[in-house]
Amino acid sequence: MPSIQILPEHLRNVIAAGEVIERPASVVKELIENAIDAGSRNITVEILYGGKKLIKVSDDGCGMDRDDALLSIERYATSKISKIEDLFKLKTLGFRGEALASIAAVSRLTIETGIDTSLPGTLIEIAGGEIESIRDAPPLKGTIVTVRDLFFNTPARRKFLRANSTELNHVIETVISEALADFKLGFKLFADNTELLFLPSVYEPRERITQVFGMESIEHMDEFEHEFDDMTIHAFISRPPELRAKKTNQYIFVNQRPVRDPVITKAVYDGLSGILPEGKHPLFVIYLKINPSKVDFNVHPTKREIRFSDSSSVYEFVRNAVENACVKKLKVIQFEASGSSDRFHEPISASGPIYAYNTTDSAHGLFERASCYETSLPSERDIIFLGEIFIIMFQKDGLLIMDKHAAHERVLYERYLKGEVIPKRLLFPKQVRLQPALYRSILDNKEILNEMGLEIEDFGSGTVIVRTLPEFYDENSLQSILDDIGSVLKTSAEGMDSEEEIFDKKKALAASLACHKSIRGRDFLNIEEVKTLYSELLKASDPYHCPHGRPTLIKITLNELLKMFGRL
Ligand code: ADP
Ligand code: MG
Repeated sequence: MPSIQILPEHLRNVIAAGEVIERPASVVKELIENAIDAGSRNITVEILYGGKKLIKVSDDGCGMDRDDALLSIERYATSKISKIEDLFKLKTLGFRGEALASIAAVSRLTIETGIDTSLPGTLIEIAGGEIESIRDAPPLKGTIVTVRDLFFNTPARRKFLRANSTELNHVIETVISEALADFKLGFKLFADNTELLFLPSVYEPRERITQVFGMESIEHMDEFEHEFDDMTIHAFISRPPELRAKKTNQYIFVNQRPVRDPVITKAVYDGLSGILPEGKHPLFVIYLKINPSKVDFNVHPTKREIRFSDSSSVYEFVRNAVENACVKKLKVIQFEASGSSDRFHEPISASGPIYAYNTTDSAHGLFERASCYETSLPSERDIIFLGEIFIIMFQKDGLLIMDKHAAHERVLYERYLKGEVIPKRLLFPKQVRLQPALYRSILDNKEILNEMGLEIEDFGSGTVIVRTLPEFYDENSLQSILDDIGSVLKTSAEGMDSEEEIFDKKKALAASLACHKSIRGRDFLNIEEVKTLYSELLKASDPYHCPHGRPTLIKITLNELLKMFGRL
């Protein structure tokens, strides 16, 4: 066995960088958080080539003198904690003292910083962890950190970076999340010299959320505050129709720190149970404040994950607050809206009652009167509705069960792919404001969307104008339709557009659009519609699965039944 050696400082920093700095967005996060900790009021982020070429973060915070600036790039160098106990009363976002050292180890880094506009500042240049020069800079109060050629000396890392557009999307997401954390700070983001975000300081979280999500969304969000013991929650949660097919735009802040936390997320979903349709996701922004001694932020080098000392009380607190604020309120609204009408008493759950079931026939009797085969259409008396989802069709040799939503999704999906949708021109073209990444991906794919019945044009400043919609769609859900297809396009934005990639993109879009319409699905179908649906389904390229791969039709043959009952 070779003898053991202590790794040299530089190698240690490269290894540490592996954990802290995954991609340009991680650099942006660390630099913004340093700027926030430095008491800045305004933070500007500039990016070139998705951050691969350049990331520059400028702040107007306290700045550093020369000695501190030199120390800041050392590992375990921090001004934020000095003893163990400090870890349990953290007021700053940083505390591990490794971000700048890690960034310095894997890039060409310049720090320009100063503590007063009447004194010369300091400029330090470092490449791959080696200091190249230290000199005076023009006077300034604040700090400008420039990171060029990220991972230039760690090619294996560089290979993991994705397309510029994808990296940029992560950067946008990071800036948005930091901006939501503190509404009093002003943020700007420029990418390739274009302004993507301009978020001046505002007076309350609601205004910041409006800046980020737009008016449409905030109008459909419930806002509430609640306090218990030493915890407070201030939350914004969207209600129908402002729901999404994916978990996008869900932000959690614990003591102003953006985190991912399964406990809080689950508490929100559980709190909404009963009013959240299956497969739908709310947008939310949750600000939780908790005594810092009851939460451990030092769980992961990126500080995104946390651990509560008593997670079940946090869960209960959040769930109850959400339930009280959203569910109970919604029930009151529903009741008022429906008065004494029967609508209110309709079953809500998917496993509703059996609407029609012939209980007098024996199993064999049922099959004897069955008259259709898979390829021929069932007649009225051979069709029954089971709950809100299933349609059972009797056939000579068994039972055919159709999931009507999955079937509908498959049929719509094929229509989209074949360009067979009929666009409906809106009487008044509608403007929709989108987040920067979604805005870009939607405009980049205008032609494909047009083929699918959505005629969209650029209206400038993050807004698009929609002129046509595929038939069946409700123009009031435009915001959520565009958000969903925008995120689909964003995730399939990798690489260049080969024919195969365009087809994949179309498939993903068709699935998303199909899902949008059919999932709403408590729509009642009559027998004629069931027959049409079934016959269209049989014509599909794969009649047996929805675009997401779930079954549309399941057959239980008479033989299988006989086996189940021990008769074969
Ligand atoms: P940490 O944030 O965990 O302390 P960093 O490596 O990110 O570690 O930064 C090291 C130190 O450099 C910080 O503790 C802070 O004192 C100083 N520093 C970093 N960025 C800035 C900035 N933008 N303005 C002022 N001081 C900064
Ligand atoms: Mg830091």
